[in-house]
Amino acid sequence: MTAPSRPTPPDDVKPSNFLRQVIERDLAQGTYASRTFAGTPGDAAHHAAGPLDPARIRTRFPPEPNGYLHIGHAKSICLNFGLARDYGGVCHMRFDDTNPEKEEQEYVDGILDAVKWLGFGWETPDPLNPGATRSHLYFASNYFDFMYRAAEALITAGHAYVDEQTPDQMRANRGDFNTPGTDSPFRSRTPDENLARFREMRDGLLADGAAVLRAKIDMASANINLRDPAIYRIKRATHHNTGDTWCIYPMYTYAHPIEDALENITHSICTLEFEDQRPFYDWLLDTLCTLGLTKQPRPHQYEFARLNITYIVTSKRKLKQLVDEGHVQGWDDPRLPTLVGMRRRGYTAESLQLLAERSGVSKAGGWLDYASIDIALRDDLDPKAPRACAVLDPLKLKLTNFADVFGSESHREPCHAPVHPAHPERGQRDFVLTNEVWIEREDFMEVPSKGFFRLSPPRTDAAGVAQPGSRSRLKYGYVIECTGCEKDEAGQVTAVLATLVPDTKSGTPGADAVKVKGVITWVSVATAIAAEVRLYDRLFTEAQPDAGGRDFLSVLNPLSKKIVSAYLESSLATAQPDDRFQFERHGYFVADRKDHASGHPVFNRTTTLKDTWAKV
Ligand code: ATP
Ligand code: MG
Repeated sequence: MTAPSRPTPPDDVKPSNFLRQVIERDLAQGTYASRTFAGTPGDAAHHAAGPLDPARIRTRFPPEPNGYLHIGHAKSICLNFGLARDYGGVCHMRFDDTNPEKEEQEYVDGILDAVKWLGFGWETPDPLNPGATRSHLYFASNYFDFMYRAAEALITAGHAYVDEQTPDQMRANRGDFNTPGTDSPFRSRTPDENLARFREMRDGLLADGAAVLRAKIDMASANINLRDPAIYRIKRATHHNTGDTWCIYPMYTYAHPIEDALENITHSICTLEFEDQRPFYDWLLDTLCTLGLTKQPRPHQYEFARLNITYIVTSKRKLKQLVDEGHVQGWDDPRLPTLVGMRRRGYTAESLQLLAERSGVSKAGGWLDYASIDIALRDDLDPKAPRACAVLDPLKLKLTNFADVFGSESHREPCHAPVHPAHPERGQRDFVLTNEVWIEREDFMEVPSKGFFRLSPPRTDAAGVAQPGSRSRLKYGYVIECTGCEKDEAGQVTAVLATLVPDTKSGTPGADAVKVKGVITWVSVATAIAAEVRLYDRLFTEAQPDAGGRDFLSVLNPLSKKIVSAYLESSLATAQPDDRFQFERHGYFVADRKDHASGHPVFNRTTTLKDTWAKV
């Protein structure tokens, strides 16, 4: 068979990495061009893999449906689906559901949603039916029959045995790094005895944990994973897909290579912790090949370093603990690095793709600074997000000469601002200046500190010299001069007083007549929209929350969520859930996808405009 013409990566290529080099080598050498299909007709995977061009690469993303996906998975998704896309191959969406107690349909649905949201799919054009698509969605549990048959074949050929040592004995006899293992007394059973006993396991005649099926490899191997690893265990548990059909389940390390082989995966990419499992992966597939159960050329496993990011934990188990113990409010809490949480917080799929791309692919582990997530978000949103004004810590400002300037206290002076400063074609936001506006509390200081250029009232300075009230510009509006403030009985400032300097409106010839150093964002009291704004920050106070065996719950950041009553520019009245904005000077915000409604606006801060942790 001649190698069919195959797509080459685009010219604007991503930086190369060792995985791309392996794939390019395999494509150039036609490593997989002569491939025929593993499995036998009737096996779930056989037809699935069938009609596609065998020379194309196949990768897979194989989560266990035991929780929601997190940002580490996003890296794996972008890598596997991205390589398939770049090299004209196919990426299989496969659930590794061999652990019935921990797996649920809810997680299956959540994972599929997350992959779609990230921008990837498992439907590809069907070469047999022009115009139609094929779905490459698979479940390991669909191969349980095949896995069982393969186990019987291993037993028959003398490559597996039923071990009835207690778990403690098994552990003791496995040896350790310095000591070879000791053969189990059950290791010398004949294939017939093993087969009969294995069938009794399957038929429910043995208690949970009473026996396991083990591959018979080498109890003295330097690689402990080759010291007769368990491949089947007894577990009476209802499976989300196969129900109560089975009371024995394959172990992950046995199931995974078979899944890859049945689906004709070419490059099985996983994280480094599986490196020591690779010899077993190879042993199993080569052995099954000699038994006629799978075919050569078979899949190969390649490992890369997992994505670690400071200030977050990426372990489904730990994330589940945070959720179950109520430290956060559900899997989609915007403080979690779950994809549902990050999406709700306002991170875009594009920003996560960018992050995955930038974090590269290597064999050397390391930590990516949390700030990189926010940098990727800003890089994605800065050119796109419409701008708006919001006041998060409101203090009233009264313009005491407003009626003198405009003829009436109730006058509404129209003002304009660009939707996006770099894209005039996107038009203008229209809002009004009225006699009272909300400003940020931090924009007023009764006694200004050095370098403070916003609002402060007239005063006598330390040298006894009278200083006028300071002048600042209300952004997109007028220059104003601070004349004083009002206070309550406790001495707390309740309003700032100022006069408006006529003929200084932004965009008019007079705008430059008066130079000021301070510019203030504001919204009109008369037209502002009251909103709940949720200010999120890092969930942990330590860069490596679980370093050195520390309990990660002991370093939760008590300030990770703060809710404020804010006032928003009137143009935000039409914002829909999931709409994203840059609130000028404050950062990027999203209308909450669950709680935002037109009568009850709720916005989440995704990130500030600058990294506020850099100086901490
Ligand atoms: P967790 O420990 O969070 O449960 P996992 O590795 O057990 O993660 P799986 O559902 O088995 O989760 O993972 C699916 C795929 O995602 C695997 O191929 C795994 O290697 C990959 N993956 C998981 N975490 C990361 C990470 N931090 N960086 C890169 N890839 C990851
Ligand atoms: Mg896991």
